Amino acid sequence: MAGRIPQNFIDDLIARSDIVEVINTRVPLKRKGKEFSACCPFHNEKTPSFTVSENKQFFYCFGCHAKGNVIGFLMDYEHLSYIDAIESLAADAHVDVPHEDNGFSNQNKEDKQPYYKILEQASELFQQELKTSARAIDYLKQRGLSGEIAKQFKIGYAPDGWNFLSGSLGKTTDKLNSLIKTGLVVTKENDKTYDRFRDRIIFPITDQRGRIIGFGGRILDQGEPKYLNSPENTVFHKGYELYGLYETKQALRKIDRIIVVEGYMDVVALAQHGINYAVASLGTATTTEQIQKAFRTTHEIVFCYDGDNAGKKAAWRALENTLTVIRDGMIAKFLFLPEKEDPDTMVRKEGKEAFEQRIKNAKTLSDFLFENLKSEIDISSTEGKAQVASKANALIQKMHNGFLKDLLIEELSTLVGLSQQLLESKISTKIENKKTAQTLTKPARGQQISNNKTRLAVALLIQNPILASHHTVPDMFKHAANKGLQLLHTLQQTIASNPDISAAALLERFRDGEHENTLSTLSMLQTPETENDNTVTEVFKEVIERLHREERSEYLKNKLENNEQLSPEEWNEYLEKPNK
Ligand SMILES: [Zn+2]
Repeated sequence: MAGRIPQNFIDDLIARSDIVEVINTRVPLKRKGKEFSACCPFHNEKTPSFTVSENKQFFYCFGCHAKGNVIGFLMDYEHLSYIDAIESLAADAHVDVPHEDNGFSNQNKEDKQPYYKILEQASELFQQELKTSARAIDYLKQRGLSGEIAKQFKIGYAPDGWNFLSGSLGKTTDKLNSLIKTGLVVTKENDKTYDRFRDRIIFPITDQRGRIIGFGGRILDQGEPKYLNSPENTVFHKGYELYGLYETKQALRKIDRIIVVEGYMDVVALAQHGINYAVASLGTATTTEQIQKAFRTTHEIVFCYDGDNAGKKAAWRALENTLTVIRDGMIAKFLFLPEKEDPDTMVRKEGKEAFEQRIKNAKTLSDFLFENLKSEIDISSTEGKAQVASKANALIQKMHNGFLKDLLIEELSTLVGLSQQLLESKISTKIENKKTAQTLTKPARGQQISNNKTRLAVALLIQNPILASHHTVPDMFKHAANKGLQLLHTLQQTIASNPDISAAALLERFRDGEHENTLSTLSMLQTPETENDNTVTEVFKEVIERLHREERSEYLKNKLENNEQLSPEEWNEYLEKPNK
């Protein structure tokens, strides 16, 4: 993916941007010695463990281990794709993103601007149409919506007719093409086209920056389908977006909680009644990405569903996805409305206060988890208990470590009558198994590193690429059995072909590769060795030399074991027995 935008451009862009400035406009930072810190935007906390290094242009959280460079931050914080993060940085720097013309056609190469433009124009037309359609206005009025709310959510109306949009916006081939690419216009087999949205109330869906990326359309009378969405396309990725999130952020400076509902109409109706913190997942299931996105905006999410079976099922899927995301300090609750009711009908019936009371009384995550398991499995028998234990274990295992996880284990232990230790051991064995499968896993807060020369060398080099010009990494590391040595060699090669590369740009080269995690952890690692500028060069030289001697010794030993001849020099070297 990275190949399409020239690597030099990305290096420059990273060098031009200041991570402190980029983060500070989103998460206010405080200077703390050489670095900056804040309460982490990726997990909830009271004492700051989120650190930004101005020198290295990296960020790291000691609480949740979120880490990376400025591109990584934008991707995580604003939930942008890699390309979008680069585009966002480039826009701030007032430069255009060049694309390598490599002769291959691929959709990421596309310029998205025409799509945003056509979507915006379509939205304006739909809004104008609403003003002239008495039927559509009536419909919204019946639903209790004011003109003000309609305007705030840019609600529009797509008139009945096959060629409203293509007729008014699709006059040139390029524009018609944009209409087709964004799904507003559909092509028939005989190359004729027609409008996707006809005789529908139109709800524009916006991204984080408020750009329109798609539409949802609701039918006015009876008919199928009741709701129709824009299809997925280059700018619209359903599972990542939350309808109403942009409007919520516009309306509130501090968002205490977000309520996740199913439909556009629910979001708008709730806003009409002063509950302006509702968002809709654009499908029945709320995805992990959507939950993460919501938790970046607030620390409490209330999932709201119809109390029928379909609602319960959707809620359970949301619970499963929440477990993989939730951390201490975050709250997830579940609100079930009476059958046949949705937030729209409910809030119109009982008003803001009663509805907010429901939100307040929503079920906690643990209550919903255990009540649901108990309702499915008869827990009076030993077999039932075992079944609950194994089901709950499988879910709890996916969680991040923390008090919430401990408390759920404790509750499970009381419920099934197994000791906490036993349950914990079952959960942790599974985690251990997973861990040993990975090589060179991340050290917790720099422990181990001082004993591990390879890690130290990698940390020094990724943090100070200039070191590669002071001391060469031996060629033999390329084929070393130790993956860390191979990595050192790769780093050296990368730096050699870009001698001025910054640390953050160097890290960028390894995005999505097998070493990404190791490198981003080591890039923020602080040890006495990595912190003292004066000694960094000497330490690096020394550690590389030691690693080299060890590697040589290993090589000679292998040679002997394979009954190969050693030269007199090699014998001398071998007998010196370099150790440590
Ligand atoms: Zn964190």
